[in-house]
Amino acid sequence: MATFSVDFLGCKVSHTDAHEIRERLLAGGHVEDSHGPDVAVLSTCCVTHEAVRKSRKAARQAARKGGRVYVTGCAANLKNAFAGLPENVVVVSLRSEQTAAFVARDVGAIGCVQADARLERVRAFVKVQDGCSFSCSFCVIPQVRGASRSRPASAVLGEVEKRAAQGHREIVLTGINLGCYRDRVAGFDLARLVREAGLVPGVERLRLSSIEVNHLDERLLDAMRSTPAVAPHLHVPLQSGDDAVLRTMSRRYTVDVYLRRVERAEGFNLTTDVIVGFPGEDERAFENTLRAVEVAGITKVHVFPYSPRPGTRTAADDTVPPETKKARSARLRGASDAACRQRWLEKVGSEDFVLVDRPGRGYGDDYLPWLVDAPVGRLVRVRAQAVADDGIVGVAA
Ligand code: SF4
Repeated sequence: MATFSVDFLGCKVSHTDAHEIRERLLAGGHVEDSHGPDVAVLSTCCVTHEAVRKSRKAARQAARKGGRVYVTGCAANLKNAFAGLPENVVVVSLRSEQTAAFVARDVGAIGCVQADARLERVRAFVKVQDGCSFSCSFCVIPQVRGASRSRPASAVLGEVEKRAAQGHREIVLTGINLGCYRDRVAGFDLARLVREAGLVPGVERLRLSSIEVNHLDERLLDAMRSTPAVAPHLHVPLQSGDDAVLRTMSRRYTVDVYLRRVERAEGFNLTTDVIVGFPGEDERAFENTLRAVEVAGITKVHVFPYSPRPGTRTAADDTVPPETKKARSARLRGASDAACRQRWLEKVGSEDFVLVDRPGRGYGDDYLPWLVDAPVGRLVRVRAQAVADDGIVGVAA
């Protein structure tokens, strides 16, 4: 038996990969211990230069504790990302489907004691798809995660059932490019998967992690609207609100197409990702992004200052000065904060269900942040009383 810890950096897919490894190690009889474990597993991220730097730093810190460190995930598949780290760091450059089994085998299975370990979180991330067959010019993900592939619908629905039975109140269907989901043998696309996952007994709230605007069609919206458990929230990456920049990014849509598609999602709270300071983004292009965010009615914008990634078509391009990226990022974050606050103010007096996921805090059905006084893990009905700096103040309704 070994003691182990599992941590992750990056997105919800990295999170699900980390938990798969955690469950395999628990099933193998190993014991979780974050203070000086024999084995530390780190699921890493390489979506930006900063993400790789943080992944390296975390690996180095874990290695200092003396145990064996397994570095897995996106950055582990990026050539030389962990070069020069101590000898007790094992870089696992494998596809996600093979990683958990490899780590479990390497650590050595000893007796099965906790095959059905419950995750602590109130919401569970269920991976339905991995990889991406799009080829956005800036993106390293297809290189490190490979082409798009989907899990069988029966496996996904089985995991949703298991997570609901374990007591998770909210299920988040997660993937690198979720809209590519297909189980051709069983006749499932994402819309059908959403309908059926939403009907699983015990699923009180179902959410999609993110959806490309190309996949936001009537069939999916119908499935989401007609499935009561589905949360009225959509995260639809915009990346830029300027057609010339979108073309250079090879994003497969224009601003007009984006706006028309999200317009059909009336009633959903919209959030997005934007890359700021992409090569060729001038002041006018950035203003176009600010305008597109406003016209689309987006609330929360996750702002990523551009950094070139190795092996991508824009690897050698970085024309916008760092101080300009910084200033534009601050402006966009300011606009996002103002849009969020406006949306929160509109909520005052209305009621919602909030899933309390940390002491004193939680998220409403539409993924707006609430401040509530209720035990962690409860889904409580609340009325919006006021707005604070970091969310809507709710009282029991
Ligand atoms: S859709 Fe584009 S940005 Fe998203 S993972 Fe695929 S290549 Fe990367």
